Amino acid sequence: MKTVVSARDIEELIRSGGDANSVPADAILTPSARDLLRDLEMEGGGKPKPAAAAKAAAAMAADKPQPPAKPLTSQSPKAELQAFFHSPYCADLKQQLVEIGRRLWGRAYVDGNGGNLAIRVGDDLALCTPTLVSKGFMKPEDMCLVDFAGNQLFGSKKRTSEILMHLQMMKQQPKDVASVHCHPPYATAFAVAGVLPPTCMIPEYEVFCAVALAPYRTPGTPEMGKLVADLVDKHNTILMANHGVVTWSHNNLEEAYWRMEIVEAYCRTLMVAAQLGKPMNTFSSGQLKDLLKIKQSLGFVDPRYGLRECELCDNDEWRPGVTCAVPGKADGPAPAGPDSEAEAVVQAVTDQILAKMKGGG
Ligand SMILES: [Zn+2]
Repeated sequence: MKTVVSARDIEELIRSGGDANSVPADAILTPSARDLLRDLEMEGGGKPKPAAAAKAAAAMAADKPQPPAKPLTSQSPKAELQAFFHSPYCADLKQQLVEIGRRLWGRAYVDGNGGNLAIRVGDDLALCTPTLVSKGFMKPEDMCLVDFAGNQLFGSKKRTSEILMHLQMMKQQPKDVASVHCHPPYATAFAVAGVLPPTCMIPEYEVFCAVALAPYRTPGTPEMGKLVADLVDKHNTILMANHGVVTWSHNNLEEAYWRMEIVEAYCRTLMVAAQLGKPMNTFSSGQLKDLLKIKQSLGFVDPRYGLRECELCDNDEWRPGVTCAVPGKADGPAPAGPDSEAEAVVQAVTDQILAKMKGGG
């Protein structure tokens, strides 16, 4: 079986004194692993140069303000929590919230004061955005520190009313370190229609997103948060019926935001493609299987790991637990569906009009 190698695997290998040339020639490389190997080769004049890469990784880590050695909790002394809230580490995260909010507004994924963001900063603590502020125009000092019950501990502005959903997700999914909620129009349109986007059409969507649909409840209520939290074990992108989308990441806020860009671009592309009057092509289940291997190596959740190949790309039939006895659609002539009926009607009307034009002059 081919092994999947990620950029992180290569960095680990180099850090532990290994040689990047020892990566098996038939390994499946993630795109970032391929980039890293190419960069190392360029730097080393054909041969990877381990010391330089390790130095670069160390410099990057040193540049970022680090979290406290022992994570704080809501029970930590108030003075400690206050110092933490004003630490360089939190200042950096607050700046990230400002920046991602600016990108959400710039891409028209939020409207009015809609949308909200949260970052886990301790065992039961999160930084989040304030309510009643446009996400495009926040300042670092607007951000709030809350405990996992939703109580606001610090911050002069009031925390978002939708924080409960973010916290319920983090409680349910221990890997969730950051989440983004907004109302991007194309993905939200799928959520309003109650339709899960079909799969096997664009690789990036398959690798970065694992999408599910949560039923509608009033925003900000514990019921809404629970319905979303029930899905985060195996999904990182939740369409919220008649509302919007929420994504989470086990790496950082920016990755949760990327997920939002990717699901929105995917839904937009599908809607444009649907207008071209041609059937949409998909890639094969085998090709999806390769993408899922990459996805798993990146640590992203997905409900399809371990499914048989024939279950992977069947957009009409796919359900967890289906048997593979359903005959392929390519077998036999296409059944007379609504499309061929519609064509027949159009043809009949056209014939009648032509006959009238000929007869009536
Ligand atoms: Zn919302």
